[in-house]
Amino acid sequence: MTVSIDVSAEEKKITTHFARPQRLLIGGKWLDAASGETFPVHNPADGGVIAQVAAGAKADVDLAVRAARAAFDGPWSKMTPTQRGKLIWKLGDAIEAHLDELALIETIDNGKLLRMAKMIDVANSAEKMRYCAGWATKLSGDTIDVSLMGTWHSYTLREPVGVVGLVVPWNFPLMMAVTKLAPALAAGCTVILKPAEQTPLSAIRLGELIQELGFPDGVVNIVTGFGETAGAAIAEHPDVDKISFTGSTEVGKIILGAARGNLKRVTLELGGKSPVIVFPDADLPTAIMEAANNIFFNTGQSCAAGSRLFAHRDVFDEVVDGVARFAEKMKIGAGIEPDTDLGPLVSQEQLDRVTGYLQAGQRDGAQVVTGGARVDRAGYFVQPTVLTGTTADMSVRREEIFGPVLCAMSFKDDDLDQIAAEANETSYGLAAYLWTQNVSVAHKMARKLKAGSVRINGGGALDHAIPYGGYKQSGWGRENGREGVEEYTEVKTVMIKL
Ligand code: ADP
Repeated sequence: MTVSIDVSAEEKKITTHFARPQRLLIGGKWLDAASGETFPVHNPADGGVIAQVAAGAKADVDLAVRAARAAFDGPWSKMTPTQRGKLIWKLGDAIEAHLDELALIETIDNGKLLRMAKMIDVANSAEKMRYCAGWATKLSGDTIDVSLMGTWHSYTLREPVGVVGLVVPWNFPLMMAVTKLAPALAAGCTVILKPAEQTPLSAIRLGELIQELGFPDGVVNIVTGFGETAGAAIAEHPDVDKISFTGSTEVGKIILGAARGNLKRVTLELGGKSPVIVFPDADLPTAIMEAANNIFFNTGQSCAAGSRLFAHRDVFDEVVDGVARFAEKMKIGAGIEPDTDLGPLVSQEQLDRVTGYLQAGQRDGAQVVTGGARVDRAGYFVQPTVLTGTTADMSVRREEIFGPVLCAMSFKDDDLDQIAAEANETSYGLAAYLWTQNVSVAHKMARKLKAGSVRINGGGALDHAIPYGGYKQSGWGRENGREGVEEYTEVKTVMIKL
């Protein structure tokens, strides 16, 4: 896909747009943080500062929660499902109408490839809005026959859970925000959205579009700021009914602790260390290409990344060699360049983290097939890396690196239980990928793998209609599909003795 816009002119427009300090959207108004503080946002391709953004904290969150509560009790709950659905659909259309602009914002802010930002982040965000718009009119309870004495009319109501905090990460800033926002709105909730401090700009632009469409004030509030301040204030807040979080397992556990005060509902979409299992009968050229894409896409900064490759020993060398050759051909550069294959990591902190793992792996005795170090240029670039010779106790093999680093292992025999046991040897359970032509092996393995999502003979893309979430320490609850919308509801039972 070629980039159809004059990038330099658009880029200038965007940097001009964000030249003034960016504010918080609370109760339909753009406000400075109560403290007056701002923080800088950097372009990962060169480290330059691209915007100053309001550093929201507890006082701002308090205000946003009050606005969200007023909207929940007031205009939002008085609108019919059809009216809500129409607004959500319009927001999808508005996202699509601003596709080029929003994609460029993601690229400048996050570092990701512009063509991917267009094709995946923004296009999916528009579709996700429209998919969820349909759910606004389709959520309903059941009538249930009971076995009590007498005659009863019993039914369930599916009601919105209330005011919801949406705390999102920096890897797919707009898409993660929309993945939560769209079902929350469809269910009838009002929200406080906190984008990641590294990448707040697309959420701010989304807030501007929301204002233009005429959503009632306070339905969507956007509080930019740091996790330890703004994020923590949302997680702790006694009048927030639910928090939906996507990010690291470590922070997920902190959020869980903070949420216990009022026992708010919690959805967690956390880390992964997902296995890619290649059987010897697989379509190898495709499996190799997809295994490479799976770990190098978005510079490895994807919770669903297939970061542990298990290939049968008969094909191990061919698969590892193929992925390594793929890595070596990747053009590393700024996401804005049309021929770039691998953009920078999001931040200096993330670069330090990934290079720290690479050093630890090599110290522990892992062999580097390709890559293994940072790239010697300005910006947060790291080489796409393939490691062999890892053992189960090494941090590179055990922990989520969130970078373009693949650990490759071989398996010996055809004992599916043994293969599954090795693939399941992780505290995570988000996704698993299988490559085999054998239908029976595919289905048997799908049942043996402890993961929320099993993909067979296909790449890693997610679909808004398919529930997604984690087993084990990869999370609680599901996003997308009917399950994803129902996460924003409570079930009430009503029983009438006739
Ligand atoms: P990473 O470690 O990869 O930056 P995080 O899980 O820390 O990812 O961040 C995901 C989101 O969680 C961000 O919006 C961040 O600001 C927020 N966050 C971080 N720490 C906390 C916290 N203690 N409480 C609430 N939110 C937090």
